[in-house]
Amino acid sequence: MTIVQRKEGIIIIDPLISFECAAATSNICQTHHDPEKQRRVTGMICSHSHGDHYMGAQDVLPPGQALAIPIIAPEGFMEAVMSESVIAGPAMRQRAAFMYGRTLPRRPQGYIGVGLGMGSSIGSTSLIPPNLMIQNTGEEHVVDGVRIVFQMVPETEALAEINFHFPGFQALCIPEIATYLTLRGAQVRDAKAWSRYLDEAIVLFGSEPDVVFGSHNWPTWGRKELINKLAEQRDMYAYLHDQTVRMMNLGGVEAVCAQAEDFIQRRDLRFAATLLHHAVAAYSEISKPKTILASAYKKLAHGAENATWRNLYLTGAQRLRTRRQVRMVARSRTLLEPNPSVEQWFSILSVQVNGERAAEKSLVIDFNVTDANEKWRLLVSNGVLIHRRLCRSSGQLIDDRPDLQMVLSKQDLLEVLRGNDVECKKQEGRREAVQELLTLTSVSQGSARGPSQL
Ligand SMILES: [Zn+2]
Repeated sequence: MTIVQRKEGIIIIDPLISFECAAATSNICQTHHDPEKQRRVTGMICSHSHGDHYMGAQDVLPPGQALAIPIIAPEGFMEAVMSESVIAGPAMRQRAAFMYGRTLPRRPQGYIGVGLGMGSSIGSTSLIPPNLMIQNTGEEHVVDGVRIVFQMVPETEALAEINFHFPGFQALCIPEIATYLTLRGAQVRDAKAWSRYLDEAIVLFGSEPDVVFGSHNWPTWGRKELINKLAEQRDMYAYLHDQTVRMMNLGGVEAVCAQAEDFIQRRDLRFAATLLHHAVAAYSEISKPKTILASAYKKLAHGAENATWRNLYLTGAQRLRTRRQVRMVARSRTLLEPNPSVEQWFSILSVQVNGERAAEKSLVIDFNVTDANEKWRLLVSNGVLIHRRLCRSSGQLIDDRPDLQMVLSKQDLLEVLRGNDVECKKQEGRREAVQELLTLTSVSQGSARGPSQL
């Protein structure tokens, strides 16, 4: 908050986030400059539509005075407040809670500040609608005898924003000049516009002021120093914009490869690998990024102390160079033979069913496994294979009428599940049902893992 002191009144610029902070600030000012408390507020300027520049207004304005004095803000102020702080407000506040570390413990290992200060106020807030909207650059107003010249700078730090100059005091106010993309989710600023406006400010006001002040930083004194500061900020925003666009337009796989090679040269192998990985994914038909990525992986492997990382990088490099498929560790078939239980065979079979292929299929097959003394029902339903143990108390079931019932030994059941023809003790229904079930499973021929395990 900045206070412009007049003989009988004060003009308040950017009255902070909360009543309590704004009141404390004006009390400090009164203690030192107006102990008799004779000056009243004769005007207020809210430079832009962010809460830390207007929400503390209510308690520094004399009761009932809000309409009697000019409350100045840029055109579009209320619309911008609605858009960012009300409509998108809850989401912004959620993100702000992260940025401002509200829940972190206050200690050296935890919360130590918010950059702009020690903390963000949590006091009472208000939104007093402005009654004098600035619309044009060069617009002038006299408040409490003070001449103020305004510059419109929309879409810079905020959607609606103004800079202003006090020719009588040779003082220029540029409330914010140092944020571009906040973590709290405020709208991204137009860096190019900001650069243009800062240059415009140098041209408009540069020959006059002896001090430039903002709302968050120390003032800069001296004309040469302040022009320097504005020019540096102007150039920073222009650079940010122009180089981002230039790099974006220079993109493409060739440029990415060149960049990556540069990073490899500089021994930043992991970043080069990340960059190239994107290029390989996006341009799978082009071999250059693969070749460079393979060499980066090889270097990473040879620099790795850990054998497993070394293997990982070398295998990645080998695959990129040879397109050789990486085989699973176990290459031979592990026949489980009859050792697992009947239930385990069914469990293995159920995760081999191709859900899409089985989606429209319904099958009911009963197995009476005599030597295991177990009765099972397999159900294909809605793309899954359900196995259910039948016991004497099962009684008549809704999904009765099996397509096939088989009475057989455990060894014969295994052969049936392997798709082999066996003579079973007794069977009733359509024998093809077993084949129909097995065609729903999808396991590639000769696969090391699969129903071939059965
Ligand atoms: Zn601010």
